[in-house]
Amino acid sequence: MFILQRRFSRPLQPLLFPFNLRSSISIRTIKSQTSYDPISTHHPLLTALPNSSSLAQIQRLHSKFIVSGLTHHPFVASKLIQALVSLSCQDYADFILSTTPHPTLFTYNILIRAHSISPTHVLNSSFLLFRRLLEDHSRVTPNQYTLAFVLNSCCYRQGMVADEELRSIAVFEADQIRGQGVRLGLDSNLFVCNVAIRVYGSWAMMEEAERVFKDCSSRDLFSWNSMIGGYVNVGDMKHAMMLFEEMPNRDVVSWSTVISGFVQEGSFMEAMELFHQMQRSGVTPNEVTFTCILTASANLVALDQGRWIHSYIKKAKIGVNERLLSSLIDMYAKCGEIVAALKTFNDGFLKMTVYPWNAMLNGFAIHGMAEDAIDLFEKMRSEGIAPNKVTFISLLSACSHGNFLDEANAYFESMSAVYWVHPEIEHYGCMVDLFGRAGLLNKAEKFISLMPMPPDFIIWSSLLNACRIHRDVARAERVGRIIKELNPEQAGCQVLLANIYSRSGKWAGARKVRNEVEVFRPRKIPGWSSIELGGIFHQFLVGDKSHPQTKEIYLFLDELSIKLKRAGYEPELEEVLVDVDEEDKETALGMHSEKLAIAFGLMNTAPGTVIRVVKNLRVCIDCHQATKLISKLYSRDIIVRDRVRFHYFKDGSCSCKDYW
Ligand code: ZN
Ligand code: ZN
Repeated sequence: MFILQRRFSRPLQPLLFPFNLRSSISIRTIKSQTSYDPISTHHPLLTALPNSSSLAQIQRLHSKFIVSGLTHHPFVASKLIQALVSLSCQDYADFILSTTPHPTLFTYNILIRAHSISPTHVLNSSFLLFRRLLEDHSRVTPNQYTLAFVLNSCCYRQGMVADEELRSIAVFEADQIRGQGVRLGLDSNLFVCNVAIRVYGSWAMMEEAERVFKDCSSRDLFSWNSMIGGYVNVGDMKHAMMLFEEMPNRDVVSWSTVISGFVQEGSFMEAMELFHQMQRSGVTPNEVTFTCILTASANLVALDQGRWIHSYIKKAKIGVNERLLSSLIDMYAKCGEIVAALKTFNDGFLKMTVYPWNAMLNGFAIHGMAEDAIDLFEKMRSEGIAPNKVTFISLLSACSHGNFLDEANAYFESMSAVYWVHPEIEHYGCMVDLFGRAGLLNKAEKFISLMPMPPDFIIWSSLLNACRIHRDVARAERVGRIIKELNPEQAGCQVLLANIYSRSGKWAGARKVRNEVEVFRPRKIPGWSSIELGGIFHQFLVGDKSHPQTKEIYLFLDELSIKLKRAGYEPELEEVLVDVDEEDKETALGMHSEKLAIAFGLMNTAPGTVIRVVKNLRVCIDCHQATKLISKLYSRDIIVRDRVRFHYFKDGSCSCKDYW
């Protein structure tokens, strides 16, 4: 009667945590029994639970359970916890568990699982629950699901600060859980082993992962995929591919994992080849596969491939998430199609996260469109999208390309003051690049000396490059010495220094540096350039004579050099001859791989077609100069993406404004 009166006199308030009910619960707990009467699953309160879409609804039902004395029934508790977990209210669910006298194994499992996959999870919370379960051992015994769920919480996740301490805690806990697995006779259970493989793989412990993989009673797709994922994670594509070849069946995850591995290590051709094999095998790609292949297309400047993927996505009505949208924008921008990139950006419905904005900003930056980049950044700000570190790299580099000194300074200052983004070494690098490009070498050097972190090799190389452009030999010598101390085996910068010497006629200095380079010369990377025509990649090495059209290409190049000379081109001999890190020293002018690829493109495409070439090394000064003239002579837009940056040649000039 009292209960009824209470119910009608004062409506139940939604309680975030009904801690005020603790006392009544503890009294009931004492009275509780170890066995409960079965409760009908059709109980009206229970049937209402799964349909509760808000915390307030669940709180109201919870209060009714308390009032009706059902709250300690293990089945009711498990249902309540299940409903709370579905709303990500783990703390509330923890509270229910702590007040349930005899939770079932199912209840434990639900909550351990919820903690292990929660984005805000603390590594320990699943483990603590697991320990509580073990202490309750007289009644409940963990099963394979319990072990798998609690093991899962030891996995490395994106966004975690993966320091040594966290790693050792995670691995220690994983070992403990596996120890329990041995005790329970579940150590070679497939479900448990699969998660263990994933955990060790995520912490780059491939030997341990391999041991679990071998000891497992059986293997399924998940086991193979987890092993491959582990090898991809540590960058060991050799072992990843060995397992991939060996596995009995492959699904979209297997294919996407190896493709993403090749993309991560910059082997875009291999990624593309695997993608074609995947299509032939009949496995349907998903958005992860497309994101990887679009990245590969962007880096190979393979517009046909990229366009094909875009139309496939549209036709197959594949859901475009923000990552995929960003990859599409990035692909168009890097293939020189900034208008198509902007159209894709504007057509994209999802622009709630920073990724598509960053992709578009970077597109404007590489096309040297500083004003558009600044406008976009302001629009992004007005729409309330918080910029991140990548946003500022693009924005500052756009300002650098457009020589927008004041704007860049203001944005750099505002980073930490307004946006709480702490400038990192990449941002300082952008500023050094900006000052260098503007010829403010003193300012650049002073800026470096005031950096809060020690300037690295890239920062000094950037200044050295500025010295080369602005022919500041004295400063170049000083910077060259610093770089040599920082990284004595780095031949690239010493070559740059030799170039600076030879450009100013200091032959003795050039020779001295060159001789030193010979001593430390690292493993030489063969230079290659590639061009895509109708979905086929044609790759050219330095002085290549293996292409079926070799004869025609060389004849074309002979003609081209005559035309270039008439147009006033003078080969940059002295620099090419010492540019040893980039291409073979013995290579004669005109045989550099990008020239072969450009000639092949000019010969095999209709007038007006844009030529897109990708090179694995830095474009040399001579090829850069020649390409500028070729773009004018043949009225062709030529895009060359080299190791360092993107060059868009049009009407005799380049988007990099001769600074790279
Ligand atoms: Zn060259
Ligand atoms: Zn350029």
